[in-house]
Amino acid sequence: MSDSFDVIVIGAGPGGYVCAIRAAQLGMKVACVEKRSTLGGTCLNVGCIPSKALLQSSENFEETKHKFADHGIMVEGVKLDLQRMQARKGEVVSANTKGVEFLFKKNKVTWLKGEGRITAPGKVEVAGQSYDAKNIIIATGSDSAPLRGVEVDEKQVVTSTGVLELEKVPDHLVVIGGGVIGLELGSVWRRLGAEVTVIEYLDRLAPGMDGETAKQFERVLTKQGIKFKLKSKVTAAAKSAEGVTLTVEPASGGAAEEVKADVVLLAIGRRPYTDNLGLAEVGVELDERGRVKTDKHFATNVPGIYAIGDVIAGAMLAHKAEDEGVALAEILAGQAGHVNYGVIPAIVYTWPEIASVGESEEELKARGQAYKVGKFPFMANGRARAMGDVDGFVKILADKETDRVLGAHILGPDAGTLIAEVAIAMEFGASAEDVARTCHAHPTLNEAVKEAALAVDGRPLHI
Ligand SMILES: Cc1cc2nc3c(=O)[nH]c(=O)nc-3n(C[C@H](O)[C@H](O)[C@H](O)COP(=O)(O)OP(=O)(O)OC[C@H]3O[C@@H](n4cnc5c(N)ncnc54)[C@H](O)[C@@H]3O)c2cc1C
Repeated sequence: MSDSFDVIVIGAGPGGYVCAIRAAQLGMKVACVEKRSTLGGTCLNVGCIPSKALLQSSENFEETKHKFADHGIMVEGVKLDLQRMQARKGEVVSANTKGVEFLFKKNKVTWLKGEGRITAPGKVEVAGQSYDAKNIIIATGSDSAPLRGVEVDEKQVVTSTGVLELEKVPDHLVVIGGGVIGLELGSVWRRLGAEVTVIEYLDRLAPGMDGETAKQFERVLTKQGIKFKLKSKVTAAAKSAEGVTLTVEPASGGAAEEVKADVVLLAIGRRPYTDNLGLAEVGVELDERGRVKTDKHFATNVPGIYAIGDVIAGAMLAHKAEDEGVALAEILAGQAGHVNYGVIPAIVYTWPEIASVGESEEELKARGQAYKVGKFPFMANGRARAMGDVDGFVKILADKETDRVLGAHILGPDAGTLIAEVAIAMEFGASAEDVARTCHAHPTLNEAVKEAALAVDGRPLHI
């Protein structure tokens, strides 16, 4: 095998593998280093894809048990075969990771198997062999953040990786952290029969998302049976044969209480992963949170070394990593690669889903931006009623002067798909009126987006 490349990408997650494919499409000779036995990174192996497989399966289970009867479909004796459900999840993951392997072959990207280490600018060592590269791209992603006093064993105290592999439905699952991962995976196990309690340090869920939408989301999840302990912090976890006893204190200090669980999911966030990469030795700078520091073109302080994805600043999302991978490959090919960080959708794939793009009301207020709000509830949308999914609303925020769309926040059925319409509108600099005057098919959930856009001008038709 030749040992000299135009580009060596370290890490084959959505940032790294997409960057490798795009660079190869642009005529570069590319290798991608991956130490896992399969490609696709966190996202395909232990993140987005397996979690969505279990979310879908558990939603199907819950619908069959509790919602089908509303439609006149009477099913008796619904049983859970968790082993089969887990096996299906494995098949979904495997089809996706093999798909990336196929794409590497198709695009002539060389997979260097093993742990990559940068030994000098332009030099990467993998499995004892040294390779030369004109450009090195760090795409090593992230790992679950630890919490002092709570030791992970992936059996009783698990991260998102362990909770995706449980072989039995726990009686009581306690989730530490009310962010995206905790809420999605908490929902999976609640639907499959666990009692679920979420302990969150802040006074709200889904930090960073629009406050009003997050509050409504909390009400919906509470109605579904998830219990929340907000403004609380976990300070210790004691394990025994019977389970785990957590010590929980008010976030602002005060008397501690004990919470007992069969399984504890630690989901307080993720930390950038740069272990054993050799960054200190080659002098690549990290920021105060351990992320690789880059400029606007993804360049580190060391010439020829770049970084993208979860390992750099910004939202830890697969599509953000992918878009950075494409932009960087294009920059290296002399093109004008670019990511619009103002229009990156964020979604929580519970049911209903919560999705947002652009700025929240809190952010607009903080920067003194005058804005108008248009809201429309799914209760008044014909398709949502036909589906029996009427929880939630669409909220569109637009510039008070120009009517330009500044953000959208959707809680409702398929919100993650609906938000794409607003993202495209924002990319084109659309006004709320542009969205409102676009003909939307009837009866669709998207009509709620159109109605919210009409509501920005105070003239919704169906409410
Ligand atoms: C449970 C869960 C659910 C998620 N759901 C979603 C979702 O629905 N939507 C979404 O957008 N995001 C989701 N995410 C986040 C998403 O997975 C990440 O944002 C995304 O994977 C980041 O991509 P990346 O390429 O930067 O890094 P990663 O996907 O973390 O990939 C990095 C890869 O680098 C490899 N690596 C590290 N160091 C080395 C080395 N020295 N040598 C060789 N290989 C190395 C690792 O093995 C890994 O495979 C989820 C995450 C989790 C944990």
